[in-house]
Amino acid sequence: MPKPAKGKARRSLQAADLDRLHAMIQRLSAYGARITKQRKQTLLVFLEAPGFVSAMDVHNDLSKIYPGISYDTVYRNIRLFRGLGLIEQFVYDDCVKFKMSCIHAQQEHYHLICVHCEKIISMHFDPSKLTEQLPDHFRPLQYKFDVYGCCSSCSDSV
Ligand SMILES: [Zn+2]
Ligand SMILES: [Zn+2]
Repeated sequence: MPKPAKGKARRSLQAADLDRLHAMIQRLSAYGARITKQRKQTLLVFLEAPGFVSAMDVHNDLSKIYPGISYDTVYRNIRLFRGLGLIEQFVYDDCVKFKMSCIHAQQEHYHLICVHCEKIISMHFDPSKLTEQLPDHFRPLQYKFDVYGCCSSCSDSV
């Protein structure tokens, strides 16, 4: 898989992002998780990220506000958010990155990922049609794939 792009500016938050933050906090508290300042700040890092972030990126960001926060704490929060479907995980050759979940992430979906700007387009698609007749009468239980390529705005600019 290609390496994620680097060095892009942080997004500034829009009203829709704040609604989303509020919804994520509600989801956490419905689950019974404590809403700490650090957890809120971690959610903000994901909301403001222009693309994918690694656990190390989140730790670096949070350390600026909460010096001494441990990597373990950050990682546990990321796992909690992921378990609740607030963020999604993307596995690269040499690292694991995270991103805010696609809207409607509860439904089965796949990702079209632009390798230039890291835009993600989610796609609803039934993969079972591709695997109706597999060798060795193989029975699929789970599908896992993402499509890497170039989005329309990046195609226009190259
Ligand atoms: Zn998604
Ligand atoms: Zn693009």
